[in-house]
Amino acid sequence: MKRVALLGATGSIGRQAIEIVEAHPRLELCAAASGSTPLDDVDAPLRQVGGDLTELLDRAEPDVVLNAVVGFAGIHATLWALERGVDLALANKESLVAGGDLALAALERGGGRILPVDSEHSALFQCLEGRAPEQVDTLVVTGSGGPFRGRSRDELEDVTPEQALAHPTWQMGPKITIDSATLANKGLEVIEAHYLFGIPYDRIEVVIQPTSIVHSLVRFRDGASLAHLGYPDMRVPISYALTYPERAATPLPPLDLTALALEFSAPDTETFPMLALARAAGERGGTAPCAFNAANEVAVGAFLDGRLPFLAVPEVVGDALSAADGAPARDVDDLVEADRLARELAQRGLPVA
Ligand code: NAD
Ligand code: MG
Repeated sequence: MKRVALLGATGSIGRQAIEIVEAHPRLELCAAASGSTPLDDVDAPLRQVGGDLTELLDRAEPDVVLNAVVGFAGIHATLWALERGVDLALANKESLVAGGDLALAALERGGGRILPVDSEHSALFQCLEGRAPEQVDTLVVTGSGGPFRGRSRDELEDVTPEQALAHPTWQMGPKITIDSATLANKGLEVIEAHYLFGIPYDRIEVVIQPTSIVHSLVRFRDGASLAHLGYPDMRVPISYALTYPERAATPLPPLDLTALALEFSAPDTETFPMLALARAAGERGGTAPCAFNAANEVAVGAFLDGRLPFLAVPEVVGDALSAADGAPARDVDDLVEADRLARELAQRGLPVA
């Protein structure tokens, strides 16, 4: 039996993970956690609502941690797993973006592995098959472009949270859905790919593929490119990460190629500045990615609450990022402090109520 600790069990990823675990005879939940939503209907010997996730993990002694918490709140669980060499099935990209350097150091010490759950990174992981970075020409992270693909800045002036929450291809939690609308999600994913695969930023590209059938691809130095295709359904990367390297069956139908039209285009980085802001934060390094993430969490929260216009999200994040010192974090306390300071800077950039 493989014992899974599921963090973020009541969320979009969490619910789909429970389905995968229940369908597989060799997977069982040893612990489940949520932030504030009750876990009454989740069948796990240890359950925790709120509180310290690392205490739960200490008690649960899992074989794999599926971190499906949303936001920086997942950082301690990510570091817990990496430090101990426990498999980390990672959906919580924010923790790797914010704490990338600390996470890689913990991974090195712990000797374990990260099994990406984010669909693009699961795709890249499968195309790469552990190959060395020097064999890679470019990683190409694909994105749908979100609900506002093709719109001009003028057409984004008055968009509401409801409109931004209507994603064309994926059903996800509110935070990542807004990130998809601003393209901040692709920005976070570029940084995530950099840390997961050790490829420099100038060799990580973003391409729009509106139907989300091509989940990402790798161009290799010999001219071959490998792409990962499939219907957009998170049960596939969740199952892949939890059953790796088994590739267990899922209920998905086989891909009908004759019904597909695949079109690719460059992202509109002028209308959607979050992608370039994330890239710049990644290239700056230190705690700049942490500051980007923290300011984005604040701005997304304010947009969802109706306190911030859609077009002001990149302004708030850009200003906070310019004001943040970006100094490297020596330890997790430094990182938590950098996160706190960036949140404060972003708060100051919000319109007064
Ligand atoms: P969601 O909002 O649907 O669920 C979030 C879960 O995290 C909930 O169970 C919530 O209770 C829990 N949570 C929040 N704060 C917590 C805390 N402090 N302690 C413990 N639990 C806490 O979010 P989601 O869409 O499932 O996304 C989860 C993560 O997976 C995010 O990092 C997101 O970027 C990533 N991801 C999601 C998808 C998707 O399809 N939903 C795809 C790729 C990556
Ligand atoms: Mg993704």
